[in-house]
Amino acid sequence: MSSSPTQPPGAPDGSPVQYVGTEQQPRAIYHIYRGPDREQALAFLRSTPVAEPLIYLVVETPQGNVGRDLVCLFDERSGAVIEFGPRTPSQHPRQSPTHCAWCGVYVVPFDVPEYAVRNASTLSVYLAIDEARDRGHGWHCRACALLQCVFCCDPTDMRCRGCGSQLTEVVKEITQT
Ligand SMILES: [Zn+2]
Ligand SMILES: [Zn+2]
Repeated sequence: MSSSPTQPPGAPDGSPVQYVGTEQQPRAIYHIYRGPDREQALAFLRSTPVAEPLIYLVVETPQGNVGRDLVCLFDERSGAVIEFGPRTPSQHPRQSPTHCAWCGVYVVPFDVPEYAVRNASTLSVYLAIDEARDRGHGWHCRACALLQCVFCCDPTDMRCRGCGSQLTEVVKEITQT
């Protein structure tokens, strides 16, 4: 996470995956690579996490293109999830208003349905673990202000890794007009 997200991450030493170029689109950045086969491409993507939204890694291979975004490794043609990339929680949490304190990856805010916004005083959001995983959501600890992404949570014990308090969903900031 030391380098800027607009800089393409390099392949680790010894990886046969080669950087090809970067496509800057209005809303997203695509770092394109080429690999000898799908397995080598997936190995590269597993070892290269994406911490920011709208950044995509794509590896072209003779068996089709595979990619990685904030949430998962995917098949580019079908868009199907291949697997969720590994995230390794750190022992030393870092406080951030936008990123998981434990793995450093951006936490996608949960989109509160409009009917709920109108009754914001009684708002409570129940977020299914599967849905949270598919979209890269996470939770917030009111006691110690740390964010905790779904991948750094134990689904059987949804408490803050730092202080053990109950967690609340990270929701999009609601601006009343
Ligand atoms: Zn995390
Ligand atoms: Zn806490």
